[in-house]
Amino acid sequence: MRIGLYPGTFDPITLGHLDIIKRGCILVDRLVIGVAINEGKAPLFGLDDRVGMVEAEAAKLSQETGTEIVVHPFDNLLIDCAHDVGAQIIVRGLRAVADFEYEYQMVGMNRALDSSVETVFLMAGAKYQPIASKLVKEIARLGGDVSQFVTPEVRAHLEARLGR
Ligand code: ADP
Repeated sequence: MRIGLYPGTFDPITLGHLDIIKRGCILVDRLVIGVAINEGKAPLFGLDDRVGMVEAEAAKLSQETGTEIVVHPFDNLLIDCAHDVGAQIIVRGLRAVADFEYEYQMVGMNRALDSSVETVFLMAGAKYQPIASKLVKEIARLGGDVSQFVTPEVRAHLEARLGR
């Protein structure tokens, strides 16, 4: 059984993440979405909210793709999380050149820790490539319309969280 781990902060989950998940589903029998607790990043949403949003979206995608998708919060080393969930593959999304440097280092170091876990990079469809959670939050905070970037459910969560 081929198991993939797609880790991230998902603060909140965007249409970019969902596009990567859909593509990742083609590669594996089970896709585990690892939601990093990441308190250091000072997320807008607490872990429970982020996991809840990912679970709701994952349920829809699992039906659509026929691939099992499970959500797994984690706060340890990524490579240890991969071991915990039995993943042979780590899935990451690549946007622009800006992502490359960090991802390049991550692969190198994760490989040094365990060379049997392979990282694969996927690119989102053209219209989803520029989407970043950070900018979605900024647009929502300033009262802009984020409906092109997140699902209606996530948009409602953003509005509630920002007190609109
Ligand atoms: P992290 O804190 O690990 O950067 P994110 O939740 O921001 O977590 O992103 C998780 C993964 O999804 C990363 O690999 C990131 O590059 C990827 N990703 C996010 N948005 C997009 C997008 N629009 N297109 C492709 N990949 C994306």
